[in-house]
Amino acid sequence: MIIDGTTALVEVEEGVKIIPGANTIITSIDKVVNWGRVSSLWPMAFGLACCAIEMMTTGSAHYDLDRFGIIFRGSPRQSDVVIIAGTVTKKMVPVIRRVYDQMPEPRYVMAMGSCACSGGIYNTYSTVQGVDTFLPVDVYIPGCPPRPEALMEGIIKLQEKIKKEHFKWSMWR
Ligand code: SF4
Repeated sequence: MIIDGTTALVEVEEGVKIIPGANTIITSIDKVVNWGRVSSLWPMAFGLACCAIEMMTTGSAHYDLDRFGIIFRGSPRQSDVVIIAGTVTKKMVPVIRRVYDQMPEPRYVMAMGSCACSGGIYNTYSTVQGVDTFLPVDVYIPGCPPRPEALMEGIIKLQEKIKKEHFKWSMWR
């Protein structure tokens, strides 16, 4: 198809245009790749304490995360986001780090609950004072515990962040 000055393009959303009647969409590679990523976020669940119950509840039929394309995985090799829910003790740090290192890039980290965000009420010798002391956290979800709606809000915030990313061809080589 040749697009000249007389071809009618209709912008259906920012950065996405269609040619009515021509069954054609014009957009950028960033838009297509990011659309795929936000529509199929597969979390690696890492429940460590009480917050994990709220995370499991979020995956139940009542909240129906599947409608967002979010399906919890049991393997880091199939996951692109790790949700660390609960109190992180120092002995768990190498385990979490290994799971994170096994996830393919691009990968994201969510800290769920006050304990994961900052150590919460546990300012003790054995508790890590926040996941960001050993992993790059993308989204913090405060609360003790945060409700499922808060986790869903955090996921939406992560999706908004992913939508602004630029695709790197070097990652496909
Ligand atoms: S933030 Fe509260 S609910 Fe969550 S793991 Fe810590 S103590 Fe438990």
